[in-house]
Parts: sequence; C-alpha cells; structure tokens
Amino acid sequence: MKNFTYTRASSVKDAVQRASADRDALFIAGGTNLVDRLKVFLDEPSQLIDISRLEMKRIEKLANGGLRLGALVTNTAVADNADVRRDYPILARAILSGASQQIRNAATVGGNLLQRTRCPYYYDTAFPCNKRQPGQGCPAISGINRIHAILGASDQCVAVNPSDMSVALATLDAVVDVVGPQGKRQIPFTEFHRLPGNTPQRDTNLEVGELITAVILPPVPLAKSGVYLKLRDRTSYAFALVSVAAAIDLKGERIQDVRLALGGVAHKPWRSIEAEKFLIGKTAESTTFQQAAEIALKGATPLSDNAYKVDLAKRAIRRALTISAKGGGVA
Ligand code: SF4
Repeated sequence: MKNFTYTRASSVKDAVQRASADRDALFIAGGTNLVDRLKVFLDEPSQLIDISRLEMKRIEKLANGGLRLGALVTNTAVADNADVRRDYPILARAILSGASQQIRNAATVGGNLLQRTRCPYYYDTAFPCNKRQPGQGCPAISGINRIHAILGASDQCVAVNPSDMSVALATLDAVVDVVGPQGKRQIPFTEFHRLPGNTPQRDTNLEVGELITAVILPPVPLAKSGVYLKLRDRTSYAFALVSVAAAIDLKGERIQDVRLALGGVAHKPWRSIEAEKFLIGKTAESTTFQQAAEIALKGATPLSDNAYKVDLAKRAIRRALTISAKGGGVA
C-alpha cells in the first residue's frame, strides 16, 4: 500500500489549490465509491483532500424557478426535498432506485456524478484493464460481458456508467458548476461524462484540480410527467441492466416536447436526441413509441453476452414513454 496524507480543505479555493498542486491527490466527501476503490488499491492517491465540511450543502431556489443542488447535498436530501419531488420527480425516483438508504445518506451529488464503472475486471487487479492502466487491454470484450455497453463503446473499453441520478439529469438539461485553477466554468450535463474512445481512463471532462460545486436544474415543466424505469437482476441494491428516463409534454394526443435517456447501456448516460426529434409532433401511441425505441437503439453493437439488452431497452423505452404520456408516476 502507498502511504497518503489526509488534509481537510478550509474552502473551495483551498481545495482547488491543493489538488492543482498535486496530480495524485483525490477529493473525498461521502466516500461511498472511493473508499471501496482504496481498499483494493485501484486508487493510490498521494493525499486525500477532505471537502466534506465545505459550504456546498444547500438546495437553493433560483430566480428562474430552477434549483441549485450543492455538490455536498446527500442523495437522500435531494430525493426528499419538496421542490425536487414536485418539479423534478424523475430525479427523486432515479435516486431512490439506486444503492441503499445507508449509502444514499452518505453519498453526495458531486460524488454520484463521479462514481466509476462496476465492471468486475476493473475491480479485480488480477486482470488487465485499460481503464486502470491504459494499454493493458480489455478482458471484458472477449470475456464475461453481460452487464457491459451496447452503445458508444470502443475497442479500448466497453464499461457502462453506473449512476441512476445521472440518467435523470441528462433529461433535465442540467449544468455542472465547477471551480478549477483557471476559475469557474459550467459544463452542460450531457457533455460532463465521456465515451471511452482511446482514453478509457477518463470518465468525465473534468480537468486536473477541478472541483464540482453544484448541479443547476433549469425549469423543465415536462419533468413533472417524468418516469424512471430501472430494470435489474433484483429489485433493490443492484445496478441497472437497462434504465430509461422519459418525460413527455402532450397537447391533446400530440407530443409537444419530450426527453429520453438510457442508463446501463453506455459509458455515459445516453440521451437520444434523435428519438426525441422523431417523437415531437407525433401522436402519443404505441407504434410511435416503438419507432422511437428503434431509433434510440440504432447502431447498438452488442457483445457476446449482452444482446438481450437491445430488446430490453426497446421495451423499456416503450413502457416508460407510455406511462409518461399518461401523466407519469412510478414505472
Ligand atoms: Fe477495464 Fe473497461 Fe475493459 Fe472493464 S470494460 S475491463 S473497465 S477496459
């Protein structure tokens, strides 16, 4: 084991300065994924910078009707918040479908976005893995790959992003506030996570030293009809094989606006803009939803063990859109 130092950041500026001065430093807050990784030596930081006492623990209403979720707000606090439950029920449902109550009590908004893949080869250091060490190879491609990606993968990595919350955020036009050595910047949520390409070691577009300070939710009225449908091997404390976040705004039978994103299928939350464009102006009915599902899965490239995900995702899209068209609720 490599020794590391522990420091407690006194401010966002202090945290960023410390992390910018040391490429091997890591931030720690809830630690619900990081501590697991430290235990099996996946991460061997030179220092842990504890940000858990910084002032980023509030959910604030914005003048435009949206919300600002501080990066250190716990997943439980977001899911229990009255404004979130009323205006963004899709987000509350996605969060409550993930992990366990104990983990949600400790896990934070920022940490949820940064959790790493649950690919078993990644966690088992007896195997090579391009995400741990670029150039080593990807045993999942020719190995056991039932839970892996069917969209957007590369010959370097076929892992999927495990976050439920992120799939909902992809439909909400959310923005990630970050502070780094160059100052503040905002990253549109759909550009926050990356596809693996030839840099599978990078999950996000955060730069060295950058710290997430908040997630901004603009007003999205159709989010009230949002549905989060999660399909998994057991009904609690399991990651999605496939999940769908969907929200529809109807005028009569016609679709005025729609959001559609998939989880469990790619290295990032997979928002299907093409399927959304197809749906707008169409009649909300089963055949339309089936066509949208075909569009969303066009280009899917299953591996040896996960062809089932293609059909599962199509059915899930149809079901989520159908429920959302009826006003939303629990899928
Ligand atoms: Fe590693 Fe990605 Fe391959 Fe899994 S899928 S073994 S994380 S390179």
